[in-house]
Amino acid sequence: MAGLYIHIPFCKQACHYCDFHFSTSLRNKGALVDALCKEIETRKDYLGTSGLTSIYFGGGTPSLLSATDLTQILGTIQKHFTLTPDAEITLEANPDDLTSTKTDELKAAGINRLSIGIQSFLDEHLVLMNRSHNATQAIEGVKNAQRSDITNISIDLIYGLPNLSPEKWAYNIKQAFSLGITHLSAYCLTIEKKTALNRFVQNKTILLPEEPIVLEQFSMLMEQTAKQGFIHYEISNFCKEGMHAKHNSSYWKNDSYLGIGPSAHSYNGNSRQWNIANNALYIKGIEALEPAFEREELTDADKFNEYIMTRLRTIWGVDLVFVKDTFGENVLTNLQNEAKEYITLGYMQQKGENVTLTKEGKFIADKIASDLFI
Ligand code: SF4
Repeated sequence: MAGLYIHIPFCKQACHYCDFHFSTSLRNKGALVDALCKEIETRKDYLGTSGLTSIYFGGGTPSLLSATDLTQILGTIQKHFTLTPDAEITLEANPDDLTSTKTDELKAAGINRLSIGIQSFLDEHLVLMNRSHNATQAIEGVKNAQRSDITNISIDLIYGLPNLSPEKWAYNIKQAFSLGITHLSAYCLTIEKKTALNRFVQNKTILLPEEPIVLEQFSMLMEQTAKQGFIHYEISNFCKEGMHAKHNSSYWKNDSYLGIGPSAHSYNGNSRQWNIANNALYIKGIEALEPAFEREELTDADKFNEYIMTRLRTIWGVDLVFVKDTFGENVLTNLQNEAKEYITLGYMQQKGENVTLTKEGKFIADKIASDLFI
């Protein structure tokens, strides 16, 4: 199992909550696509001989790529990698880009899964977040994709927003399911330091909801998705049976992945490396065959902590046999001691050699994980 991530660092406008790497100037797009292809070629051996089980175009806004750009990148990948027959090829899209022509082009290029950044079906919140689309475009985008026979569709929603009443949140969830999606990612709004939203919070232009209100929204999310028969397979992710995101699941299952493009991260089981988060310097480095990146070798403690952090958030949980075989008897004993109280209090459960969070535990997942760290 190995995945390939391609970072497309362009957006039409800056969403107020976002601290990802992107530029609102598309001036360098052609040179950037050439550099991505060159990086794909030069790093083709990073994953060894593993075939690719997933390709993920993230960003930024990958739906800003033209059909020609996409064909160029996918052609380069096919030239240098072997794809498994059922490889998942996901593209993150903003609804306003998903015209019927665009969705036909995406289908023809080989995209077989869309992750659509809807965030809300209410215009008041889309304006608050400075999203480039409105609620009508959100619905149309999904329908256009389905008309183009891209039926594996995930949408993103955000809760914890100012003035998001229980009725409004229920409306968003209902709208999502009315569209016949296969996957839902729902994230709690987080305030990142260097964002417009942080300034609004600091100068009290907007007021964030109190924690109990946000927890109630998470609770409603779990209830409503369960009613729809969706599986809660990661804290923020829900899917129909068999429709979990292969690419993101590979991160949570500790598989290797190669990240291409500015700011993209790669992981090979022993080290993590990340490209420079600057489009011009990224292109310059790739063209000169002197790529700009940093690398960190992971200690056993890093590996264990990452394993706990990611696996505890998933339905697959922490495998005690794996912990013993990989990190040793002492680490296992320490983990079991730390987990004991959470199991007694009903926040965690053990079935056989597997430990997972209970529903109650999902509300405090980060705290539990940090208590289990080395
Ligand atoms: S479209 Fe996505 S990447 Fe771009 S600014 Fe908005 S949230 Fe960030």
